[in-house]
Amino acid sequence: MIVKVDAARCQGHGRCAVEAARVYTLDAEGHCAVNGRTIPPELEEEARIGVEVCPERAIALEP
Ligand code: SF4
Repeated sequence: MIVKVDAARCQGHGRCAVEAARVYTLDAEGHCAVNGRTIPPELEEEARIGVEVCPERAIALEP
């Protein structure tokens, strides 16, 4: 699974990094910094949590 973060949508709320800290990290401006990251199977459920809590719908997961 690969995380895709739409930089045009991400507003830097940081909720992804709070609710799913093992998957999502933020850059110096507070925007999600894991675009293109490959997620191992044991973290896939946590990756989905990040999708659900992002208020901007900026995160997508690809197989
Ligand atoms: S929760 Fe969404 S808008 Fe906020 S930092 Fe994460 S990806 Fe960006």
